[in-house]
Amino acid sequence: SDSTNLLSNVKFEVEEWAKAQMKEIERLKELERYRKEFVGNVSHELKTPIFNIQGYILTLIEGGLEDPKINMLYLKRTEKSIDRMISIVEDLESINKLESGELMLNPVKFDIVKTAKDVFEMEQWQAQERDISLEIVTPPVKPIFVRADRNRILEVMTNLVVNAIKYGKKGGFVHISFHDLDDNIMVEISDNGIGIEKKNLPRVFERFYRVDKSRSREQGGTGLGLSIVKHIIEAHNQSINVRSVLDQGTTFNFTLEKAK
Ligand code: ADP
Repeated sequence: SDSTNLLSNVKFEVEEWAKAQMKEIERLKELERYRKEFVGNVSHELKTPIFNIQGYILTLIEGGLEDPKINMLYLKRTEKSIDRMISIVEDLESINKLESGELMLNPVKFDIVKTAKDVFEMEQWQAQERDISLEIVTPPVKPIFVRADRNRILEVMTNLVVNAIKYGKKGGFVHISFHDLDDNIMVEISDNGIGIEKKNLPRVFERFYRVDKSRSREQGGTGLGLSIVKHIIEAHNQSINVRSVLDQGTTFNFTLEKAK
């Protein structure tokens, strides 16, 4: 009859509503877990330099500030720890802006080959320290015009190049190449360094993820760089990928929109 029909319709709708509510609760729980983990990671990362600074200052106080050599040593260490805290806080600010959508992109037409050259020029000193050669390997190297936020893409390329140097091989290379994909340009940055194990590969874009925590921290790494990089590329509606062979090297590639 009509009334049983109506009743079963109502029952169906209530059930659907309850399912949707359950789903929303699951989503909120997941967000809450994520937030807790994030706060935990941040405080953990900041604790190390803070405790270090406390230790250096106590040493100075208790040592009576007599030996100028020791004073200088501990002051330099203090300054290094402060530097580290600053870079963590700056990375956090970037992530926050990117995730809240507060960061507006300012797309302009520019030559990506020139940007690559600028990045190499700025990072040359770091490469020299590890005897690594920086090369643009796509011939012929003429301008390639893309449309994107130039400063943000500069940040992306700087991050990838600095990583390639940090985790690269002493005496090795960092190569940048450009590939024409019709609508897009693909930029590849590769090194012949330590590589990343297959099982860790999908995790490198996660916040705070580092394959080797002590090595990364020693190099001044926070584990936030690649998650910022991914955010920026995705904000451009483009994609970023990585492939790697342990002990042989790593290649990151990302796409950009061609400028008309
Ligand atoms: P970090 O500040 O630790 O460098 P990133 O987010 O930039 O953080 O990178 C995350 C982790 O991915 C690094 O700690 C490192 O283990 C790994 N990684 C990134 N780039 C490379 C690379 N070119 N070769 C090998 N490992 C890399």
